[in-house]
Amino acid sequence: MKLHITFKLNKELDKEMALVFLDNEAGGVDFSQGVTGPHPEIKNIKEKSEVERKEIINDYFDRYYKKHEKELLDCIEQFREDWEPVENKFIEQINKIFKNPETPEGKYIGYLSIINCNPRFLDSKTFQIFYKHRAGSNYIAAHEVLHFFFYDYANRNHSDVFAKLNPDDGIYWDLAELFNGVILDLPEFIAMHGQVETKVYPAHEKHIILMKKLWDNEPNIDNWIIEAYRYLNSS
Ligand SMILES: [Zn+2]
Repeated sequence: MKLHITFKLNKELDKEMALVFLDNEAGGVDFSQGVTGPHPEIKNIKEKSEVERKEIINDYFDRYYKKHEKELLDCIEQFREDWEPVENKFIEQINKIFKNPETPEGKYIGYLSIINCNPRFLDSKTFQIFYKHRAGSNYIAAHEVLHFFFYDYANRNHSDVFAKLNPDDGIYWDLAELFNGVILDLPEFIAMHGQVETKVYPAHEKHIILMKKLWDNEPNIDNWIIEAYRYLNSS
């Protein structure tokens, strides 16, 4: 299995996502805070019309990227330096968990972002990383790429259950996030990203202990997916 994650700037994508996340809420998180929190200069943007929002974001992001150009480029370099020594260990764990999978087709690019929303794009296998994220870029990269493998595995091997479900919402999304909550908290993964306390969405906190138990009892993805799905479906 081949996998290589690269990191890049993408200002236009960042502008686009800022507009999207001004009106987005998921799992008990208001994502507009991720846009305005790090940028108090635009904190009133939600009161504006759609046309004005677009103008403000366009202007503000152009100025910000220009003013912080060196800082952002240095940051990309840091993302690369941090990821490089763990990539092989990550691949090793992915092979173990997903039973020697093929790499789902895609670009595997982490785009730096100046907003704290950190979305993943399942179709292109790309994602954004807030450049001042407290958990660090390795954590975000591992989290998002784990999603790509998880959805691919579930679609392929448990299509009877998952083919019709929406990966961005409801039980399938819950399951993917909880899976990450379990896996990223394993010592092998903590060694890669350094975060001793894995964060799950507030809406998922009540399930995480049981989900971890399920994995500890039998660290087998097929068993976990089915059992966890049953449990979520009946709770
Ligand atoms: Zn996620």
